[in-house]
This record gives sequence, structure tokens and C-alpha cells, in this order.
Amino acid sequence: PSARLPLRDDTIYALSSGSGRAGIAVIRISGPDCLDVYHALCPAKPPPKPRFAGVRTLVEPGGQGSTVNIVDSDALVLHFPGPKTVTGEDVLELHVHGGAATVKAVLSAIPKSLPSGGIRYAEPGEFTRRAFINNRLDLAQVESLGDTLAAETEQQRRAAVRGNSGVLGKTYESWREQLLLARGEIEALIDFSEDQHFDESPAELLSNVTRLVEGILHSIQLHQDGSQRSELLRNGIRIALLGPPNVGKSSLMNQIVGREASIVSAEAGTTRDIVEASLDIRGYLCSFADTAGIRTHKTSAVIGAIEQEGIRRARKKALDSDVVIVLASVEPADDSGGGSHRISYDTETLQLAAGAQQCLVAVNKSDAVDPQSFAALLQHFKTSVLCSVEGLHKAEPLTLSCKAAEKAAVAAVRLTDPGGIQTLTDRLVQSFAALTSLPDDLQHLLGVTERQNQLLTQCRRHLLEFMDEASVCGADGDADIVLAAEHLRLAGLRLASITGRGASGDVEEVLGVIFEKFCVGK
Ligand code: GDP
Ligand code: ZN
Repeated sequence: PSARLPLRDDTIYALSSGSGRAGIAVIRISGPDCLDVYHALCPAKPPPKPRFAGVRTLVEPGGQGSTVNIVDSDALVLHFPGPKTVTGEDVLELHVHGGAATVKAVLSAIPKSLPSGGIRYAEPGEFTRRAFINNRLDLAQVESLGDTLAAETEQQRRAAVRGNSGVLGKTYESWREQLLLARGEIEALIDFSEDQHFDESPAELLSNVTRLVEGILHSIQLHQDGSQRSELLRNGIRIALLGPPNVGKSSLMNQIVGREASIVSAEAGTTRDIVEASLDIRGYLCSFADTAGIRTHKTSAVIGAIEQEGIRRARKKALDSDVVIVLASVEPADDSGGGSHRISYDTETLQLAAGAQQCLVAVNKSDAVDPQSFAALLQHFKTSVLCSVEGLHKAEPLTLSCKAAEKAAVAAVRLTDPGGIQTLTDRLVQSFAALTSLPDDLQHLLGVTERQNQLLTQCRRHLLEFMDEASVCGADGDADIVLAAEHLRLAGLRLASITGRGASGDVEEVLGVIFEKFCVGK
């Protein structure tokens, strides 16, 4: 079925490769007049065999004899006859020398090849739009193509490529067709009831459709879960770094950014502002939530209003984050310098973090005491603190020393994992994978975009409304079957909006189903 969008029958052209300095520039021409363009640019030779490259000299159209102006020699020319091309139309590709002057000369020569018009520079996305109109791509594929072009990190690229297979579009389309069929059967009940003979009783029919809808609802659930995962890859995973003052939160952030991450984009500011930067941590787009404002309140009996506000904000940050790192540290047990140490932590923060999707606990400043003492402190922290926090009793706290990491960096020492930063990053990346990965056979669900997700939510709502209506019907046989069918229709429309197919002409399609199945009027 072809989408009923106005088809423009002019020929378009554009520079398809990047506009920076490069050895070769690719100019793409698409539309019915490709061959005319070719003959005007290369009057001396016939076009190369379809889909084979030929070396040609490109001239400015209209020149005669000695006035012929060569715009590029040794250009590579390819001709792809439609409809099995990227746009579904005839396509001509010119690979010319990449210099700015050459590109400019070729681009200005192309429109002169059709003196009577019918050729123009393409609008943004117009090749892809034509591909969609000509059924070369469905909307889900167009979206993932956009994501592919926009991908900045490795994981974004992977998610985008997954969406490109066309599996998603085919899936939505098959749901839509099944719903259409079901609705056809239900409407047949409405329109041609009583004396008409049906294979199934109305109750049987409804319960069959209900089963179908249940199956689709389940699949929608999977798709929405996939979309959640790919949103994390697209928009970045938010990490909150929580803990009382002075445990080393800023130091740790600096170590991660310095060693394990590269900055993808940062708001203008100094290095202290890295809290607002997007980072690439081993291929995952991430950001650190700003945790300034968290306060400990162990010494003061009265928690000031400002302090409470700080805690409230920190709590919100933690709840908004995908991964929470709770930091504690080794500190002197008292100010007398007696030499004993304790672990400084914040119970409230630990409880908060335990509720997060992914949570890591780390103890910093391991360098402050000898290894045995540290091991003892850590053991005590586990058995007397973590064990009593619900959700953390199995947590394995990581050992950190930002100071050791910093020293190694300054001395340019190559230790395997100075200060434990690398191990922490390994665990972080495991959390990222847990939040975003899918089994092999569901990888394509990473292609589900936010737009699709929203339409799926609407589709789901209509299907649930259908279920409500159908269940009433089962109970007293008196459900509004017209209403039930309408919910199916609306659900199907949402699916049609996802793929961009079948949104119009719906009525004919349903009628077609009815006539095919029930031979009405026989
Ligand atoms: P924040 O308040 O949690 O952000 O903590 P900071 O990162 O500002 O660090 C507080 C203090 O602890 C600073 O004086 C740091 O130099 C020090 N510090 C941070 N990490 C370590 C560490 O691993 N070992 C030691 N001995 N001191 C550290
Ligand atoms: Zn509805």
C-alpha cells in the first residue's frame, strides 16, 4: 500500500557528503530526469552500465566546441535506475574532486542541464522523504536513520543500527493488520447479525479477539521496555554521586572524568563545572547529577530549613538518577589525633540509594590507614551498617583512594588500577549494561524511539478500553460491541501513525476484510 502523500515529480540534487575539506565529494541526484542531467553533463559518452561506476569528464551544459567548460575531470559516475534505489526513483551519483571550488562548479552546472526547469536543490531530508513515499523505508526506519546520523557514542550507534532493520515496522504493521481483521469480524457481527451464519458465536469471537489483544498488549510492554533502554542510550544515563561532605565526591568525579571518560559536550564553564557535562564512559553517554547541597546532620540536633531543603533536593536527584554511587570515607575517629579511625557515612543517603535502580557503595580514603585496619573497618561497615539497610545487605563496597589515583597520575606511574577508579568504572559499566541491554533476539527493540513509545502508550490505552468493553460483554452479553470495535479502530490508527502506512483508506481496508471473510451479499 502506498501512502497518500503528494508525490512531487521533479528532480532534486544535493551534496550528500560532508561539507568539510575532503578528497572526494558525493553529489546525489534523484528523480525522473536523471538521465537528461547525465547527458547534459557528459555529452561525449553514454551513461555507465546501471550500478557500475564509470569515469567521466563533467562539463558545463550548453557549451560548444572550444567554449566547453570542464567542471571536473576523472569524476566517478553511477546510475541507479529506479525503483530499487535509495529513494525509489532514478538516481545519479557523481563522485567529484572534493575541493570547494570543484563542488561549487558542479553544483551550479547541474541545474543548467535542464534549461526548462524541473530540477532544484533538495530540501533537508527530502531524499529520505522520497524513500518513504516510495515504500523504500518505513517511518521507524527513517527515525533510526536519523539516530544513526546523530549518534555520538558507540552505544548510541549500536541502538540506531538495530532500529534500521525494518523488523519494527513489520511488527507494528502485523499488529495493525491483526487488529483490522479482528475489527472486521466484530463489525460483521454488528452489521449482518441475526440470520447470517457465522462459524463462531459472538462470545467465542470476542474471546478470541481478547486473546489476540492480550498478546499484543504483552508485546507492547516489551517494546516500551526497549524504548526505555534505548532512551538511556540516546539521552544519557544519569549518575548521582551522594555522600556526606568531604568524603571525596568532587575528587572522585575528577578522577573518573580524567581517566575513564571523555567529555562529549559541556556547558560553558570551568573544569569545576564538569557536573553539567555529558560524558562518554566506555561508549555510554552519561552525566553526573550535581549533588551539591547534600548535608550530614549528625552533630546538630536541629536541622535547619536550608539543610532540609538540601536533603530534599539530594533525595530528588537520587530518585531522578539511573545509577547512584554512595560514597563513604575513612576519617579520624576524633579530633585528638589518637590514631583511631572510623568510616564516615550518611544513613539517610544509604537508604535513599538502596531504592535506586542501580546502586554502588564505595569507601574512599583507603590510604588513610594501613591495609589491615582498612579491611577491619570495611568489614565492620558491612556487618553493622550495610546489613541493616534494606536492599544493601548484600552490597559489596568498593575500595577507593582518590589520593592514590591522583598521585599515580602526577608521577605518571603505570599501576594496574591506581586508587581503584578502574574497578569502580567496571562496576559502573556493568550497571549501565544492566539498565540498557536486551537478549539477542530482542536487540531490535533498542530501535523503539520516544515517538513510537508515546504512540504505543496511546495504542495500549485503547486496547485496554477494548478489554474493558469486551469483559462486560462476556458477563451479560450486552456490551456495546460498537464501542469495542471503535477502540480497536483507534488502537490501529496509532499503529498506523508509527509506520506511516494505512492511516488513510482504513474504511476500505476494513470492508475488504469483511467481504473476504464472510462473503456478504452472496
Ligand atoms: P566532597 O566534599 O565529598 O566533594 O570531598 P572532596 O573531593 O572535596 O574532598 C574532601 C577532602 O578529602 C579534600 O581535602 C581531599 O583532598 C581529600 N581527599 C579526597 N580523596 C581522598 C583520598 O582518597 N585520600 C585522602 N587521604 N584524602 C582524600
Ligand atoms: Zn479507546
